[in-house]
Amino acid sequence: MKILVCGGAGYVGAHVARELHLRNHEVTVLDNLSTGHRQAVRWGRFVQADVMVPPSLDSVLRGGAFEAVVHLCALSIVSGSTADPYGYYLNNVQGTLNLLRSMRDHGVGKLVFSSTAAIYGQPLSDVISEDHPKNPLSPYGASKLMVERILADAATAYGLSSVSLRYFNAAGAAYLDGIGESHQPETHLIPNVLRSLLAGSPLQVFGNQYATPDGTCVRDYVHVRDLASAHALALDYLGNHTGAHAFNLGSGAGFSVMDVIRTAERVTGKRASVILREPRAGDPAQLVASSLLAQTELGWHAPLHDLDEIVLGAWRWHQDPAY
Ligand code: UDP
Repeated sequence: MKILVCGGAGYVGAHVARELHLRNHEVTVLDNLSTGHRQAVRWGRFVQADVMVPPSLDSVLRGGAFEAVVHLCALSIVSGSTADPYGYYLNNVQGTLNLLRSMRDHGVGKLVFSSTAAIYGQPLSDVISEDHPKNPLSPYGASKLMVERILADAATAYGLSSVSLRYFNAAGAAYLDGIGESHQPETHLIPNVLRSLLAGSPLQVFGNQYATPDGTCVRDYVHVRDLASAHALALDYLGNHTGAHAFNLGSGAGFSVMDVIRTAERVTGKRASVILREPRAGDPAQLVASSLLAQTELGWHAPLHDLDEIVLGAWRWHQDPAY
C-alpha cells in the first residue's frame, strides 16, 4: 500500500515507518521537524510539511495517490498542554481537521490515528478496557479524545474509516536500525533513568505515597516496535472494516517507578541515585491496559518484548544515540 506517515520523524512515527517498510508498503513521511528528527527518516521518501499549513498538506496529498494515512503529528507533553492549552488544541485538533479535510478532498478514506491512554483520566478499575469512562485530566488527553469524536462523525458524514490506537507507555528502541527516543526536554521515565545512570546524576522520582504496592506510580510499558506492528495490523483491518474503531495498546503488565529503576540497574550494572520530588499534577497512581480487543480484532500479540528487553534496547540507544 502507498501510505503517508504524518509525524514519521518522531519517536513512534519512525518505528512505524520502519515497520511499514519491512512489510513492503511504500512509505512517505511528512513532518515539520519541530520535534522530529530528519535522521530518523530512514525508510521511504521525506517531505517537510506542516498539518497547520493546509496548502502545504494539499500539495503532498494532491497526486500522491495514497491509500491510507497514519497520523502521529501532535504536541504530546502533558504538563506543556496544561500550561498552553490553546497551543495544544490548535495543533492537535485543528491540525488534524486540516489533515482530514485534505484527505477527504483528495479521496483518501483510511486513517490510523495515534491516540493515548491519557483520554481515560483517573482509572476506575485496575485494568482499563476501551469502554472505560473518558475523563481526561489534561488538555493533551482532551485534544486526543476530541479527535476520536471527530473521527466518529467523519465516519458517518464522509465515510472515513479509521482506527485510533490508544498507546499506554511507549518505550524501547530499534537501536540496531539507528532509531530511538530523543525528546528535548525529556519527561519520560525510562530515558530519564538511563540518562541519569549514564551521567551519574540523580533521578527525580515524582511521589512515593500513591496507593500502589511500593507507593510509586504503576504504568504499562509497551515496546515501541510492538506498537509499530499494531499500526500495520490496523491498516490491514481497514481493508475490510468501515467506521471508526479504537483499541488499547499495552502489555497488560504494570511496573512501578521503582520496578523500572531496579530493572535499569540490573540491565546496566549501574546504581541509581534518587531524589524524591512532589507528585506531578495529573499523574494517576496506576495505568494498565487490557489489550484484549486489539488481540482479538487486529490479531496483535503483545508483549513480544518484556521490560528487560525494553530497557536494554533503550540503554543501547542512549549509549550512542544517532541523533
Ligand atoms: N517519572 C519519574 N521521574 C521522571 C519521569 C517520570 O518519577 O523523571 C514518573 C512519573 O511521575 C510517572 C511515571 O514515571 O509516575 C511514568 O511517567 P512518564 O512521563 O514516563 O509517562 P506517563 O505515564 O506520564 O505518560
